[in-house]
Amino acid sequence: MKPHNFSAGPGILPAEVLKQASEACINFDNMNLSLLEISHRSKNYEKVMEEARSIIKELFEVGDEYEVIYLGGGASTQFAMVPYNLLSENGSAAYVNTGVWASKAIKEAKIIGNTKVIASSEDKKFSYIPKGYEIPTDADYLHITSNNTIYGTQIKQFPKTNIPLVCDMSSDIFSRKVNAKDFSLIYAGAQKNMGPAGATMVMVKKDVLGKTGRKMLSMMDYQVHIKGDSMYNTPPVFPIYVTLLTLQWLKKNGGIAWIEKVNQQKADLLYNEIDRNSLFFGTVVKEDRSNMNVCFLTNKPELEPEFDKIWKDANISSIRGHRDVGGYRASLYNALPLESVQVLVDTMKEFEKKFA
Ligand SMILES: *Cc1c(COP(=O)(O)O)cnc(C)c1O
Repeated sequence: MKPHNFSAGPGILPAEVLKQASEACINFDNMNLSLLEISHRSKNYEKVMEEARSIIKELFEVGDEYEVIYLGGGASTQFAMVPYNLLSENGSAAYVNTGVWASKAIKEAKIIGNTKVIASSEDKKFSYIPKGYEIPTDADYLHITSNNTIYGTQIKQFPKTNIPLVCDMSSDIFSRKVNAKDFSLIYAGAQKNMGPAGATMVMVKKDVLGKTGRKMLSMMDYQVHIKGDSMYNTPPVFPIYVTLLTLQWLKKNGGIAWIEKVNQQKADLLYNEIDRNSLFFGTVVKEDRSNMNVCFLTNKPELEPEFDKIWKDANISSIRGHRDVGGYRASLYNALPLESVQVLVDTMKEFEKKFA
């Protein structure tokens, strides 16, 4: 039987998506050809690209003032492309540092231009989301990370600002309702919550582009990719296709309103057990707890091998914490069913019964 898969990324995908994807590897769109061996400019694939772009705008409920592109290079390439495209030669960028990924984004921005870290939770090991900080009104943009995949915090209330808001949503995109029109740019590597590794989605409001005064390298220029309909060069065709299948699965089952409810149920179930169970505790401030990546420790670390045995016997996979944090991290991405969380909670109860 397939394990209950709590992997932090690449993360779980719906079973039916994996089946459709495997079929497309052999016979795509009744062409008797594999999706892996046809031109990205074939009609059959162009349709995939078009739908993969339009479904993003549909799920985010935005209009033609936004463009959607798919790129390779992971979200990490966006750490450089965002400042390269938005940070003007004489301007500045504002960043909020909420963890490892935000820090990496800041590192790249500093190479490109004047970058200010206006708030950080590094003082307490990224265990909370900074709030109430002042946002410079003259910055070219404010960059935030909606969900801190490694430490398990999540922004519940996005900052209000008049400058363009840029967000790395890699690990919680389409997990809950957000007001996408408040953002000028949203990017996400697909492999956490909306597809496989290899495709990165960028949704950008056109009016923020073309203002840096910089001579642009083609592959690094959003406008070049927009003009080429995400086909300036050969796009990651298969990961984009599987992303489309995953988003169609989401839409078919009830969309964001549905998944937000399910995700809340999953998170409540697990956090309630962490708080109730005498052998476990959560690692971050309660109000900032992530509904996607749930981090927890046992207060009897010497018993970790015992707990590991219990959950492994229950056919659970991938709940060891990130190597920087230790303990446990259960990732509750969209495709993870509520039943899997119940199985995990049962193992925690069993552990308590035996060892408390
Ligand atoms: C995983 C992750 C990244 C890095 O993604 P890559 O596709 O590996 O470059 C960036 N930001 C966040 C929030 C992540 O969770």
